[in-house]
Amino acid sequence: MDFTLTPEQLDIKNAAREFAENEFTPEIMEKCDREEIYPAEIVKKARKLGFSTIKIPEKYGGMGLSLFEEVLVTEEFYRVSPGIGNACLSSTFGCELLTLFGSEEQKEKYLRIITEKYGVSAMATTEPDAGSDVAAVRTKIIKDGDEWVVNGTKTFITNGSVCDFVLVLGRTYEGEKRHHGLTFAIIESKAKGFRATKIRNKMGLRASDTAEIELKDVRIGDENILGKPGEGFYYLMEFFNHTRPRVAAQAVGIAQGAFEHALNYVKHRKQFGQPIAAFQHTQFRLAEMATRIQAARLLTYQAAWQCSTGRAKPELSSMAKYFAGETAVFVTDWAVQLHGGYGYVADYEIERFYRDAKLMEIYEGTKEIQKLVIARRLIGSI
Ligand SMILES: Cc1cc2nc3c(=O)[nH]c(=O)nc-3n(C[C@H](O)[C@H](O)[C@H](O)COP(=O)(O)OP(=O)(O)OC[C@H]3O[C@@H](n4cnc5c(N)ncnc54)[C@H](O)[C@@H]3O)c2cc1C
Repeated sequence: MDFTLTPEQLDIKNAAREFAENEFTPEIMEKCDREEIYPAEIVKKARKLGFSTIKIPEKYGGMGLSLFEEVLVTEEFYRVSPGIGNACLSSTFGCELLTLFGSEEQKEKYLRIITEKYGVSAMATTEPDAGSDVAAVRTKIIKDGDEWVVNGTKTFITNGSVCDFVLVLGRTYEGEKRHHGLTFAIIESKAKGFRATKIRNKMGLRASDTAEIELKDVRIGDENILGKPGEGFYYLMEFFNHTRPRVAAQAVGIAQGAFEHALNYVKHRKQFGQPIAAFQHTQFRLAEMATRIQAARLLTYQAAWQCSTGRAKPELSSMAKYFAGETAVFVTDWAVQLHGGYGYVADYEIERFYRDAKLMEIYEGTKEIQKLVIARRLIGSI
């Protein structure tokens, strides 16, 4: 496996770095974080340049590239600002489900909302009482004549209050058990009965929109049911195989950004008459941080590459997400420590990285759930 970037991949990576460094200014990052502002203008600029439609097939107006290129862009955006990076790159969240399992008509309609109108998508599985245990979802999608009626509450939904449509996981048949009977419905935010309420006071990624969505007697036709009714859980697992390496890339980007801040700081901060970088303890910490980042990056690249070949491996995607998530938390923790008291106040960007990093161990499956996936693949049935 050779991860030397092709000239095209290098161009994409450099373009992403340039965009992030120019557009995510310290003032905007600070304001969006402090006031929990969704940076709609920057999101639109990133959209126009194609950064968030990398994997959408060219046929539907996307860039037609692979998860590997998406990972490169993700790393660069999160290296500068995890919050604004998330707002930009998650603005097409859920579209993989459409690409993988949508009908031709659904792709034509909804992927084009994304690529031509710069629309925003969302993906909603989590409910107040169904998080890690996805099969406990209670939202109902019940057939009523020619239509389906959707009722339920979804929580922690990225883009929930700024999206044009959301892919909602619900239970298609009353009484059907657990993993079976779950179905994805495509629901437009303008539908009657759709209500989103922004969730405030998040610890991190505060520039990114997160909302609770209430669905009350929302009516949709057959054309808004994704793939086969009852297959939703299995679609979701396949979706995660393709999206977890992207979260791993988010974590690698956060770790890299925090590391660079720390490296710069320890070279300039003097104590006991010398830069704190001269202390061997500092040097060992830097070496440890850099080594873990590189290991997380290689695992992320391998998982993304595996998906790009069309043979996604669940355990590899989970290993990348779990290891990179822990790396982001480890590195940002030490980056704050190396800043001493200055790392503990908002004047230095590092405290924001520290807060942003934690989510990498939580969303799209907590690190414990990743370990379950890995262990199940290792052990098989017993
Ligand atoms: C900012 C943000 C954005 C999000 N975006 C989205 C989104 O766009 N769409 C969406 O659907 N969801 C989204 N989520 C939800 C996220 O995926 C869930 O929070 C996550 O899956 C965990 O579910 P939970 O919060 O209910 O925790 P719980 O499932 O209640 O877990 C609590 C703790 O118990 C542990 N645990 C649970 N089960 C087990 C087990 N079997 N073995 C060992 N430990 C276990 C967990 O690992 C965790 O440590 C988002 C969350 C946040 C915070």
